Formats: sequence, C-alpha cells, structure tokens
Amino acid sequence: MPHVVLKAAQSRAVQVRNIFCIGRNYAAHIAELGNRPEEDPVVFIKPTSALHGPGTPIVLPAHSSDVHYEAELVLLIGKAGKNIPELNALDHIDGYGLGLDLTARDLQTKAKQGGLPWAVAKGFDCAATVTPFVPANAIQNPFEIQFEMHLNGHVKQHGDIRKMLFSIPYVVHYLSTVFALQEGDLVFTGTPEGVGPLTSSDKIRLILPDHIDTDFDVI
Ligand code: MG
Repeated sequence: MPHVVLKAAQSRAVQVRNIFCIGRNYAAHIAELGNRPEEDPVVFIKPTSALHGPGTPIVLPAHSSDVHYEAELVLLIGKAGKNIPELNALDHIDGYGLGLDLTARDLQTKAKQGGLPWAVAKGFDCAATVTPFVPANAIQNPFEIQFEMHLNGHVKQHGDIRKMLFSIPYVVHYLSTVFALQEGDLVFTGTPEGVGPLTSSDKIRLILPDHIDTDFDVI
C-alpha cells in the first residue's frame, strides 16, 4: 500500500489515497514556462503508483528525455471533508511535507499543444516523490512557510507560500468543492520558479527549515 511517513514523537505511516496537484500557482513560474495565470486553480491527479519516498533513488523514466524537477509544498489531508470553508481548511491538514512533481517536459509540451491529458507526462513511477511529513501542529506559522530545493549543492528553487496565487486554505476549499477529500489525500501545491532538467547521478536536497532536510539521488 502506498504510504507516507508522518514524523512525530512516534512516527506513523499514513496510507495515501488520492494525489492532487495544483499547477500554475506562482506567477514567476507561470512566466518561465510561457503560460498564463488561470481564473481557477489548474488541477491534475497522479496515480498512487507514482509515489516515492526517501531511501531509494529516483529512477528517471525511459519514455522521456527531458524530466524536470518541480519542488513543492505538499499537504497531507487528515480529515475528510466536502465543501470545506476556507476558514476551516487548516483543520483538515494533518501534516506538511515537500515533494517533487516530476514532469516529463517534452511529453507535457506535446500534450499541451495537442490539448491532450498529462498522465504520461506527470504520472510515471517516482513522479510524486515526497519527504517525510511534519505534523501540522509543529509548524508555527503555516501562512509563512518557505522551502528550498538544492541540486548538486546549488539552490535552484526557493518557495515562499505568500507568493502563491491561490492560498493553501483556498486550494483545500476549492478541491473540496469538486472532490470529496479523504484522510490520506496528498495535495501538491504548485512549484515556484527555477524548474529545470534532471540527469542521472544528480543529487537533490529538499529543505523546510527546522523541520525537513531530505536527500534524493537520481539514477
Ligand atoms: Mg507542479
């Protein structure tokens, strides 16, 4: 069963249900890909077979020659809900983690041009790589989370959720108006600017200061 680890005094494994992803949530990333902001969040879904945790390397897929990293804050939904008001949204989040929304950019660009779905561009094995999760109550100010992605020792992405076009409470609210959220759902909240290609033997480090510092090797 696909699961993530929620780190606490006693860590526990949480079974993952759906993996929701938000696209185009930071203006500077929208600009770097030449896209336009949307009125509603762009939502796509990854299969749970794409889930991958630390400990074993990220295996780049054979069907793409241009896989990009996209470092993102990931929410772990802890309480089911439908039509969740924005004001109550944080009550439905059990943990915060960091993740890589790995994207076969060559296939995604082709799919966009043809108006076709993104499943093979975004849903392959390891495409939803995540760190362990921090319990929500350990995060002092969930409205000011910042994170970093390092590639081979260089900072490539710096995320500051205050720059999101759609805030975390709004994302949870919006998703819950379309999908009945379940305990164990993950939500990738979108990537800041600085995305780029991965090659085998790359070393990735995801950092949420004071809480998460996780390495991933790429083969
Ligand atoms: Mg993304």
